Amino acid sequence: MVIDPTYLMIIIATTALSAWASWRVKSNFQRYSTVRASSGLTGAQAAARILQASGIRDVQIVPTQGTLSDHYDPMNKRLVLCEENYYGQSVAAVGIAAHEAGHAIQHAKAYAPLHLRMAAVGITTKAGWIVSILGFGGMFLVGAKLALLLFTVSFGVIMLFQLITLPVEFDATARAKRLVGELNLVYPGAEQQGMNKVLDAAALTYVAAFLSALLTFLYHLMHLLNSDRRD
Ligand SMILES: [Zn+2]
Repeated sequence: MVIDPTYLMIIIATTALSAWASWRVKSNFQRYSTVRASSGLTGAQAAARILQASGIRDVQIVPTQGTLSDHYDPMNKRLVLCEENYYGQSVAAVGIAAHEAGHAIQHAKAYAPLHLRMAAVGITTKAGWIVSILGFGGMFLVGAKLALLLFTVSFGVIMLFQLITLPVEFDATARAKRLVGELNLVYPGAEQQGMNKVLDAAALTYVAAFLSALLTFLYHLMHLLNSDRRD
């Protein structure tokens, strides 16, 4: 089997891009998780203040293990923070907690892109399975033509999912920045700048994921269109 050099370049470029983006998140997090927020609040307390100020009373804030495993779970209405951010009093901890609280607010306000993203989780998971099955020999069973069509559609679904993730993430970060200022959870100046660096680096990983998905999708789409032309 010969690997197309264009595809090899796409794989190298997207791998390098996502490695760079996740390195930036880790290095900014490491740096600003040592900078204490003058408000003296932990991530959990900051999230609780934001939820309270937004009139949200049915979301639980819970700690979990694992670094940067923070997320909002809309199914169980749980705001999950890694222990470092749950108990931590750093500007990074408060910023990340505020971002997750931003997702809880989106959920409470029925923010359309969040709901669209939630609705798309099932089909995106299936698209991921199809890509894996085809990659692990399935393409020899269904034939090159059908495999190319399935790859294109699946990568298209994954790309759209990454696209709809962008407004969800950027909006949660915008809400976080605004609310920590309004509620004085992180003080203006150096503290807020540090927090912004952590949140902006995290947002960049979603841009990197979208660009990777877009390139992969376009590559397969071009091959599909070219193969139709040859027939
Ligand atoms: Zn998020």
